[in-house]
Amino acid sequence: MKVTYLGHASFKIECRENVVYIDPWLTGPTSPMKVDDVEKADIVLVTHDHGDHGYAEAIEICKKTGAYFVAINELGIQAKGDGVENVHTLNIGGSVEIGDINVTLVHAFHSCGKGAPTGFIAKFPCGTVYHPGDTGVFSDMRLFGEMYGIDLFLSCIGSYYVMDEHQAAMATKLVNPKVVIPMHYDTFPVIKADTEDFRNKVSQAVKDVKVEIMKPGESIELKF
Ligand code: ZN
Repeated sequence: MKVTYLGHASFKIECRENVVYIDPWLTGPTSPMKVDDVEKADIVLVTHDHGDHGYAEAIEICKKTGAYFVAINELGIQAKGDGVENVHTLNIGGSVEIGDINVTLVHAFHSCGKGAPTGFIAKFPCGTVYHPGDTGVFSDMRLFGEMYGIDLFLSCIGSYYVMDEHQAAMATKLVNPKVVIPMHYDTFPVIKADTEDFRNKVSQAVKDVKVEIMKPGESIELKF
């Protein structure tokens, strides 16, 4: 799979002919692209309705590409009201199959306006990705690892609103993925993080997890 980091908590994931955006905050200060640059999208996942997770951009992307918008029920209903045609209004524990991608909505511990804060586990033919949204660490992450066999874990590390390096390293141990990519840090001064400290803490906490530190705009090819 090809993973492109779009800054903050935003990712573009490509597998075969499918393009999936997660929390596409393309108006964010570190985003390397704008909604105008989006040519193709099949699914857009939004973990919660805080502005830095790209609900507004997700609506624009879905309208221009016909992509499915997937989020928790109340946010999905809002997206329908905002004019998105293809919407899945999941709730915690629920899954939906869109083409050859299976998307499961899972809980997160955070706050939000509509519905509840969530994370996504997306099973692609090229591998399984867990985007936890904004959250603190919680022990059910071990359950997700055991149940879904996570290949790629996208872990918030910036503290203040989400997990810090210490919690994120424990989260990585619980999820036990093949690869972890840190996110949700260095966008603003209050979420400054030390990626090398995270790398060291992961290597102390768990064996055989590769830490991939990405710059906004960078892409990597991962084979699972
Ligand atoms: Zn948030």
